[in-house]
Amino acid sequence: DPGAHVPVLVVGTGYGGSVAALRLAQAGVDVHMVEMGMAWDTPGPDGKIFANTTSPDHRSYWLRTRTKQPLSNFLGFPLDKNVPRYTGILDAEEMGGIIVYQGRGVGGGSLVNGGMAVTPKRENFGAVLPSVDADEMYSVYYPRANTALGVGTVDPAWFETADCYQYARVGRKHAQRSGFPFVFVPDVYDWDYMKQEAAGTVTRSALAGEILYGNNHGKKSLQQTYLARARATGRVTVSPLHKVTSVAPASGGGYTVVVEQLDTGGNAVAVKTVTADRVFFAAGSVGTSKLLVKLKATGALPGLNGEVGRGWGDNGNVMCGRANHLWDPTGSLQSSIPCSGIDNWAAGGAFAEVAPLPTGIETYASFYLSITKNPHRARFTWNAAAGRVDLDWQTAWKQPSIDMARTIFDKINAKEGTIYRTDLFGIYKIWGDHLTYHPLGGAVLNRATDNYGRLHGHPGLYVIDGALIPGNTSVNPFVTITALAERNIEAIIAADL
Ligand code: FAD
Repeated sequence: DPGAHVPVLVVGTGYGGSVAALRLAQAGVDVHMVEMGMAWDTPGPDGKIFANTTSPDHRSYWLRTRTKQPLSNFLGFPLDKNVPRYTGILDAEEMGGIIVYQGRGVGGGSLVNGGMAVTPKRENFGAVLPSVDADEMYSVYYPRANTALGVGTVDPAWFETADCYQYARVGRKHAQRSGFPFVFVPDVYDWDYMKQEAAGTVTRSALAGEILYGNNHGKKSLQQTYLARARATGRVTVSPLHKVTSVAPASGGGYTVVVEQLDTGGNAVAVKTVTADRVFFAAGSVGTSKLLVKLKATGALPGLNGEVGRGWGDNGNVMCGRANHLWDPTGSLQSSIPCSGIDNWAAGGAFAEVAPLPTGIETYASFYLSITKNPHRARFTWNAAAGRVDLDWQTAWKQPSIDMARTIFDKINAKEGTIYRTDLFGIYKIWGDHLTYHPLGGAVLNRATDNYGRLHGHPGLYVIDGALIPGNTSVNPFVTITALAERNIEAIIAADL
């Protein structure tokens, strides 16, 4: 309600925000969550909540009139098409030199992601979060996060026989023949449900190619895990289609938060002001960074320090495809949920997930999303003339990622006598180097905040999402975002409340 006062307001409903809401509510604190995206709890005219990956519609994109598919082309044909402008689920946010894909809605990135739930190798953790006690993370907070997220691993015996993972078995064969370690990768997808999909006894989701625009079944998004438990406490309320535009100190203490209510065309239909004793920024790396940079530059939060906006990275994401021989088909039925990867982090700086290409036809293609040790970090700055926040990432900064990914795929191609696909990201373009799925940083732990996410300069303001992590996690990031949030909120509840 406009004019209301809340003890805690959480901006955003992704991993960081959901952890904060659950643990604060369990500690007896009333929490209000504000989410700019939709609730995603009501079926559309086709009876489904989410659109299929192969047939995007108005539900698929955040306020675009044309789709912006990560794989833009196939066999020379562009795949994008016009869609009605709508507050859809996937934001392809163009930030200068890079397109940053993000989930929009109650559940944040958990609505659109592949559910790959990877804990970094212990020996890599020091580079991921240098100021955090690794012993505590690996004994308490990573296990706590994995349990609460519902992480599991494919049944290895079923994997060997499942048609829908032929692409992953081909990926394994090629990796191993070139001497690379092949690993199973855990996921939050319900593996028993997937077995039933394969057996034909339940409605298909992963086996119907659902992923980028939401999964109608099988995937344990935050709606099924942290957020369900948070709501069950009776202390958490959520306002979808509400966007936070300002946070500033209130005269009587606490903070004045300005919130725009949006319609499904993205227009502000009301502006509301509430006060909150404490505000948790959980709008995602880009969302939190953009808010803080703007609020510092425009004088709303003058006490924020010069680290705000710095230390942003793309987790070294780069994509590529390989063209296999006709005797190496990858299968016309492919589970949209990846379950495996190739680990060349120690030797070459790349961890590649063996990704699906769920087109419904045999493509003879192997497809990979590599996470690499890219050293480049970008900065968000306030562009006063344009009234927006810019990011100074440059497309050429992907070159180290390409070089690292090539430590795997050049070798595999040489061994197998195969070549890269050149038709997936344009005409004669090998590398998907224009995007990231894994934005990280912008309000880095122990720099823009203290070692637990308390923002310097303004007591009662916290960052608790991917903005805390300085640009790279060496693997897919959401388990680390969740575990770090679990660690930080425990300390904050103990000391501040
Ligand atoms: P988010 O989950 O991004 O949540 C932030 C929320 O805040 C969003 O819902 C947003 O709409 C909302 N918001 C933003 N600004 C405002 C505002 N001003 N007011 C109100 N609300 C606001 N990671 C993995 O670990 N494994 C994977 O398999 C994987 N696959 C991915 C696939 C895709 C296609 C994408 C896009 C991402 C994938 N990721 C994956 C990345 C993962 O989803 C993100 O790292 C994670 O969601 C980030 O969590 P977060 O809490 O920082 O923020």
